[in-house]
Amino acid sequence: MIEHVPAPAEVKTTCPYCGVGCGMLARLAPDGQAIVRGDPDHPANFGRLCSKGLALPETLGLEGRLLHPEIDGREAGWEQALDLVAAQFSETIAKHGPDSVAFYVSGQLLTEDYYVANKLMKGFIGSANIDTNSRLCMASSVAGHQRAFGSDTVPGTYRDLELADLIVLVGSNLAWCHPVLYQRIAAAKEARTEMKVVLIDPRRTMTADIADMHLPIRADGDVALFAGLLAYLAEQNQIERAYVEAYTTGLEQALAPASRLRLEQIADQTGLTVETLTAFYCLFAGTEKVVTVYSQGVNQSAQGTDKVNAIINCHLATGRIGRPGMGPFSVTGQPNAMGGREVGGLANMLAAHMEIENPDHRDRVRRFWRSPRIADRPGPKAVDMFRAVRDGRIKALWIMATNPADSMPEADMVEQAIRDCPFLVVSDIVRDTDTVRHAHVKLPAAAWGEKDGTTTNSERRISRQRSFLTAPGAARPDWWIICEVAKRMGFAPAFAYSSAAEIFAEHAALSSFENGGARAFDIGAFAGIDRRSYDRMQPFQWPRPRPGAPAESRFFASGGFYTQDGKARIVPVRPQFLTRAGDMFPLVLNTGRVRDHWHTMTRTGRSARLSQHFAEPFVEIHPEDARAYGVADADLVRVSSARGSILVRALLSTRQIPGTVFVPMHWTDQFAGRARVDTLVPGITDPHSGQPALKHVAVSIERFAATKYGFAVLRQRPQTLAADYWALARCEGGWRLELAFAESAKDATAFAASLFDDVPGAETLAYHDGATGRHRFACFAGDRLVGALFLASEPVAVSRAWACEQLLVDHEGQRARMAVIAGRPSAGGIDRGALVCACFGIGANEIGAAISQGCRTVEAVGQALRAGTNCGSCRGEIREILDEHRQRAKGRHENVVPLQARERVRS
Ligand code: SF4
Repeated sequence: MIEHVPAPAEVKTTCPYCGVGCGMLARLAPDGQAIVRGDPDHPANFGRLCSKGLALPETLGLEGRLLHPEIDGREAGWEQALDLVAAQFSETIAKHGPDSVAFYVSGQLLTEDYYVANKLMKGFIGSANIDTNSRLCMASSVAGHQRAFGSDTVPGTYRDLELADLIVLVGSNLAWCHPVLYQRIAAAKEARTEMKVVLIDPRRTMTADIADMHLPIRADGDVALFAGLLAYLAEQNQIERAYVEAYTTGLEQALAPASRLRLEQIADQTGLTVETLTAFYCLFAGTEKVVTVYSQGVNQSAQGTDKVNAIINCHLATGRIGRPGMGPFSVTGQPNAMGGREVGGLANMLAAHMEIENPDHRDRVRRFWRSPRIADRPGPKAVDMFRAVRDGRIKALWIMATNPADSMPEADMVEQAIRDCPFLVVSDIVRDTDTVRHAHVKLPAAAWGEKDGTTTNSERRISRQRSFLTAPGAARPDWWIICEVAKRMGFAPAFAYSSAAEIFAEHAALSSFENGGARAFDIGAFAGIDRRSYDRMQPFQWPRPRPGAPAESRFFASGGFYTQDGKARIVPVRPQFLTRAGDMFPLVLNTGRVRDHWHTMTRTGRSARLSQHFAEPFVEIHPEDARAYGVADADLVRVSSARGSILVRALLSTRQIPGTVFVPMHWTDQFAGRARVDTLVPGITDPHSGQPALKHVAVSIERFAATKYGFAVLRQRPQTLAADYWALARCEGGWRLELAFAESAKDATAFAASLFDDVPGAETLAYHDGATGRHRFACFAGDRLVGALFLASEPVAVSRAWACEQLLVDHEGQRARMAVIAGRPSAGGIDRGALVCACFGIGANEIGAAISQGCRTVEAVGQALRAGTNCGSCRGEIREILDEHRQRAKGRHENVVPLQARERVRS
């Protein structure tokens, strides 16, 4: 008789990656494997998940986890580690004052973690030296919201993206960075053909796939573009006078500089033609239901706040705000950037949307917390905080759930600063990151799936993140770690929480404390919530001052702004066009994300599936620029700025505009030899928000003259890598490795031996061709491949996808082994090519074959192979392959990047 084992219950939780905040159902299968699927009832995603969300189970292994506290690299108990942290912080404060210590926290923390970190620093230590990696994400949106609305309030909801007749996407590669929102828009557009999408982005990203119009704007041309739009709206009599007069101030002052801009000047500053500008302005003016979505392309700029206000101005002037299908819409990069803002996790904010510079607010928060003191001035924003660490003004630093040695501008300086910091504490889930490796005290934090709390997504929706796994080793939730340190610093009564629920209840109570409608953020309905209700809490949007508020909320359709006079500010903005490119560094570098990786890859880098889409760091270059600099596709390229240089693979693409290049932000010293792109970025920041300008860096490019190239697949990660260029990525069954050497004198056999495991009884086959400089090695233990190395004088032409698969199969007999040395499938073998669809593992060669067999549309490819039919993030790439085949069939492929060349980078 088969015993019936009941399936473990599914837990409703949320995805830990982007600001869409998708709901998930997660459970453990009887074999211990985690299984996730989209929550069909969650209002953010209605069951959808993207490739990153779907691959979460692949990232949960314990390899590389920080499982116990460590002091100076040695395992320690919690008591010892917590005592040391508390004593060092207390001693430093006693000697040098409260501003000599700091916390650098993260949009990856849960709201409850964030709340207690902020409470400890601002209310009990008495300093505002707490800032967050959300400073790099949406600080300009916060500053823009506060200037315009008097509060940090996103007016609309995701539903507006489906109700709009026009969606303007500014500096937002939604297809890759917020894939589920992109899919919602794509589905709405398919259902309502009158809906239009305009993409404003220097790159023709995959998001262009659904765009009716793409405006390839110059870096930082946005203020001019939207100031010009405001003037155009006035000229065309499209200002909504009744709304403006009743609910706003400042239109005339904003129009004065905007109206002086001639279209030709705007064209000059934006790099767009007068015809394109006019077409966009006309479309905006003529469409009532407009949502303007913006993210990092707007925020990560020295004029980020002005860009935000230039956009909001157009919505306020036309009264297109807070009504269904209308409004400015900032989408956050991180899962809990908004939650961090609610608790005041930025150095210039107080808790519950109160202001640090307002004495009444300070008094209110201090009374509520019953704290002995309260910070009375803003602390240094992220870039300045790390400069203060460098200068020795901050002597004890606690970094939580983030990796500033890679993600901050001036990244080499930041790494040096934390390395030299007299006392560095890092709480993380990973044992080795470019930041954790410098910590005096490492504290093991509980990871996604193990911890409980809440996050707030980009539409103000608060959802529970629930645990369904037991925390391994000695890992503990961040809120617990912070409270234990606070208790040891003498603040026990204020940090005596026994659960995340108690912290949330206090956070909710503070939001409604002496509020009376004066502050937008009010979730008083949950003040005093008990643990049972917290566990059952459904996703809801704020505000929720009392129980029973409507399920969906919008702000500002009838004014009600949080300024002194209750009116919105239409803020005058002045376009300042400056290109940072010059003679020495003639190209503009833009940094950003790729589809399947997240931040510094501490999680996504564990997934073989996610690591195949782009397996190397790369620089995307327009073919004209590549020609001018003597760079061919798949060459290695040194990208340099005034601050340093990196070495990455060239990817030629007409998606770039000439004069610009793109490098992704994800690669660290853990995955590549020298590819930390933020080492190139200077610490230039927006004057209002302090957000760094990560998308406008002057660089030069130069072909790296390698004399030897290599590619390897390996069962084990190599311990050392003596190569001028290397990039490691997970693949099923092991690792794949790209290599290049400046000098050709490398002893190929010794190098191969350094890569392969010292496996007893292993046997290595080798092939050498002295004339061509080719060397090939394949090491077998029994029938299994331990590793294979291919070296050549030119980029190695071996199918990466096929080579990786060789780690998974048996190689019985000499013929199968020789096929590995030959670097190609033996008769009957298949080569899938570069991974395109991460959900179903479909490669470019398979899609190409389906097209050759008659598939003419993305849908037809989906029907034949399932590619693109799940999360849909790869549909743009499938369309690109279809176009490529079409071009080839017509004999026109001059500007099409050959798939085979791209495969060296991606396959
Ligand atoms: Fe996670 Fe993808 Fe949803 Fe973002 S869009 S929350 S990464 S599943």
